[in-house]
Amino acid sequence: MLAYQHAYHAGNFADVHKHLALHAVTRHLLRKESPITYVDTHAGRGLYPLAAMETDRLQEYRDGVEPVWAARHALVRDDAPLLADWLAALTEAQPRSGTLTHYPGSPWWLSRAIRQQDRLTLFELHPGEHRHLESQALPPQARRFHEDGPQGLVRRLPVPTPRLCVLIDPSYERKAEYAETAQTLQRIAAKARHAVVMIWYPLLPAGHHHGLLEALRTAGIDKLWRSELVHHAAGERHGMYGSGLVVRNPPWGLDTELSAAMQRLAPLWGRGARHSGKWWTTE
Ligand code: SAM
Repeated sequence: MLAYQHAYHAGNFADVHKHLALHAVTRHLLRKESPITYVDTHAGRGLYPLAAMETDRLQEYRDGVEPVWAARHALVRDDAPLLADWLAALTEAQPRSGTLTHYPGSPWWLSRAIRQQDRLTLFELHPGEHRHLESQALPPQARRFHEDGPQGLVRRLPVPTPRLCVLIDPSYERKAEYAETAQTLQRIAAKARHAVVMIWYPLLPAGHHHGLLEALRTAGIDKLWRSELVHHAAGERHGMYGSGLVVRNPPWGLDTELSAAMQRLAPLWGRGARHSGKWWTTE
């Protein structure tokens, strides 16, 4: 079953949370010269025009990136270098500067981060989504595979570069994906102990993400930082009420930097929005 298409949700609050965190992670990793392999196990299309039929249908970006874009001048003036840098990148993604018409997906953010010595591996299983991804202009170090991402990644471990950074961003169409994602992290940790791994999960009234967290706890994986954005009260609207991330081996300082940036953004999404970040132990 592969029915999910990210274009329906592009630029929503979860995308902002996830891609701001991804950008923060890559900024930290780029401080050292040693080569990095980036792997995006669930890549999606790469770039989303907001006027596309799918994105226009739900217009989730209106409650996600749009208020952030509208407040960008004030946010940049604030002493918030991560946000200023992220907004500069978002501006770069716009064909006409000054107008928000496109929202960049994870392959775009990672492509922007890679240097000559780095590699980027993108997996996308949905045939239509993969065709969109194939049509994106990406740097020569980027390779795209029409393949199961978690399996494809584990098969390719260990990677030839000294450092590895992985984004696992499933659509969770199947409930089993929560436990499978924990298993993927366990397999990565076994073969690449120092890998920086970011797992995204939705906060849903049904609380399915507890299955993922419980599976991580059972596996005993340590060095985890958890970042959660509650956008509105659970059950206030239909569907996802928040966005969660678990980061294994977070670069030093990521916790305070991302928390500070998210505290600046949360009020833009309404009085009920709030971010929490905490070191998370599996014991
Ligand atoms: N990471 C993207 C971003 O941030 O722009 C969004 C990804 S979207 C949440 C999940 C994507 O994973 C969908 O495009 C879906 O087709 C794809 N997908 C689902 N199962 C997959 C699998 N087993 N391997 C690779 N891709 C998969």
